[in-house]
Amino acid sequence: MAKISCPHCQQLINSEAINCPHCRITLKAYGHPGITLHRATQGYLCDTCTYHADNSCTFPQYPHAKDCILYENLQNRQLELEQQINVSNISFDIKLKRWLQRYQALLLLAFLLLICFLITLFR
Ligand code: SF4
Ligand SMILES: [Zn+2]
Repeated sequence: MAKISCPHCQQLINSEAINCPHCRITLKAYGHPGITLHRATQGYLCDTCTYHADNSCTFPQYPHAKDCILYENLQNRQLELEQQINVSNISFDIKLKRWLQRYQALLLLAFLLLICFLITLFR
């Protein structure tokens, strides 16, 4: 089971714990281990949230949420997007290399035919 640091007392705890066993703070909403209740360590969560950045939040506690189940850190989201872009670029490079390896012989033949054609044409 993965361990996380409690956002309130910073003790190491089980990532699925509904309450922190040390400070008793609630970490999951509605008592469900799959619904994380994000908590601000300082200021408001909305200041660093993706839904604040794109102006799409409709929660009543917006823009002064101290805890929220929908919070998504803007910096983390941007990092994820950059990584996804890098992965898709890498996979394109790999695809291109595989394609070139697979059709190497055909490409060489086509190149030789083109050279022959050009020589014939400009004789
Ligand atoms: S989703 Fe929550 S944290 Fe994000 S802007 Fe809305 S209220 Fe704030
Ligand atoms: Zn705690």
